[in-house]
Amino acid sequence: MSHVSEGYEWQIVDRIKETPDTYTYTFAPVTASQKFEFTIGQFVTISTLLKRPTVTGGLEESMVQRTYSIASSPTRDLIELTIKGEKPYGYINPSTEKADGFAEYFFEQINKGDKVNVRSNPNKDHFLSRIAAGNEKNIAYWSGANGAESARCLIQYMEDMKNMDVNLTLFYSNPTLHIKDEQSDRSSLNVIYYEWLIKMARKMDNFRVIFTFTREKETPVHSDHPRVRFRIGRFFNNPDGTKEKTLSRYYEDLDNIDSIFNPICGSSGFINGTVRLPDGKIKRGNGIKQNLEEIEGVKPYKIDVEQYYLQQTVPGDK
Ligand SMILES: Cc1cc2nc3c(=O)[nH]c(=O)nc-3n(C[C@H](O)[C@H](O)[C@H](O)COP(=O)(O)OP(=O)(O)OC[C@H]3O[C@@H](n4cnc5c(N)ncnc54)[C@H](O)[C@@H]3O)c2cc1C
Repeated sequence: MSHVSEGYEWQIVDRIKETPDTYTYTFAPVTASQKFEFTIGQFVTISTLLKRPTVTGGLEESMVQRTYSIASSPTRDLIELTIKGEKPYGYINPSTEKADGFAEYFFEQINKGDKVNVRSNPNKDHFLSRIAAGNEKNIAYWSGANGAESARCLIQYMEDMKNMDVNLTLFYSNPTLHIKDEQSDRSSLNVIYYEWLIKMARKMDNFRVIFTFTREKETPVHSDHPRVRFRIGRFFNNPDGTKEKTLSRYYEDLDNIDSIFNPICGSSGFINGTVRLPDGKIKRGNGIKQNLEEIEGVKPYKIDVEQYYLQQTVPGDK
């Protein structure tokens, strides 16, 4: 088990809406001594008091914590975390008979000016640590709908370090490009960092992004730039049901697949096909990790994984 360091205190100085269920918060350490060194790919654990419903209709206040990848570069003064709500507001855990979510209550109750407790994780072997150490330079980063936070940190770092000898392709999978925003009743972007990623790919020679939309019937938008690509369907699947060599397809001139380093970030379902069924049973399947190993012949040591949570299927999910 890794050690968790003592706490720091950060203040929220800004918040922007990314999608209807996701916000990026900007934090400033409350004093210079509340700042700590980190490298790309690291995460922090934040904790705060939140009021959450109980099964009897009351509210109970308690200290709640969750872990978040740092989404901004270590070269910058302020720190950003992107928080996506996964569990619906008011969801009651059947065994404890209490709400056990974090994100939706954080969005509701924590405002600009508020302070949160933060713990860093001093584990040296963290996600992307081999890129941070300069040992991997040709990167294919595979992100689920929630998973691009460390890629954002890396892209900002590449931008700030100028001529960094790193090439990054972000393979980014989302169900749809747009979703109805229940709050405004309008259609809203459903892809975290969408416009920023396109802007950065246009600007940086060493970064490109390949979006796929798993629930769109047609490609929802067409690219006008070689470093921005759009497609539909799951990575590693052809529309006719056969397997696609997705990595090889987008690295046409590649003569050695071992030169590519593959960080994968997202839910268990995205990474390795593991999901929890409504009856609580765990079902194992295939995800990006198996596809890379079995379809492309990528060696396990060329894969790096950060799992955000165990994916839960709700009745009716396919
Ligand atoms: C190392 C690490 C880094 C992370 N980085 C980030 C990050 O940068 N950004 C980010 O947003 N998250 C990140 N997470 C996940 C984060 O900690 C939270 O889990 C996430 O924000 C969702 O919070 P929540 O309160 O909505 O759900 P939680 O209470 O945390 O619960 C998540 C669980 O809810 C389940 N769930 C989904 N829908 C339902 C439903 N309808 N009914 C019941 N259960 C459901 C999910 O399957 C999942 O297992 C990270 C996690 C780890 C371990």
